[in-house]
Amino acid sequence: MRVWVDQDLCTGDGLCEEIAPAVFRLLDDGLCYVLDAGEVLSGGGSEALASVTSTHEDAVREAAEECPGECIFLVDDAAAAEDGAAGNTAAEGGAAA
Ligand code: SF4
Repeated sequence: MRVWVDQDLCTGDGLCEEIAPAVFRLLDDGLCYVLDAGEVLSGGGSEALASVTSTHEDAVREAAEECPGECIFLVDDAAAAEDGAAGNTAAEGGAAA
């Protein structure tokens, strides 16, 4: 999974950083940016696409759900890979609401 933040919509409340500090970071401009392997992708926007390790996926999903600006965007690599390929449902096991 990968993630990016639309800084134009970010309210700067820092909720995402509280939930997933390894992935989100508020910078001096008061907006949130994503971290890739511990390094801030300060360019922002959809071109600053960070990889999310499986360890952090649940927290990142929670942050995206809780984000008041609705500006955290997830890119599911598995789903993208399904284009033109057979289904990939065997590994699904998350807790649904
Ligand atoms: S939770 Fe959303 S609105 Fe709040 S700082 Fe993070 S990205 Fe910005």
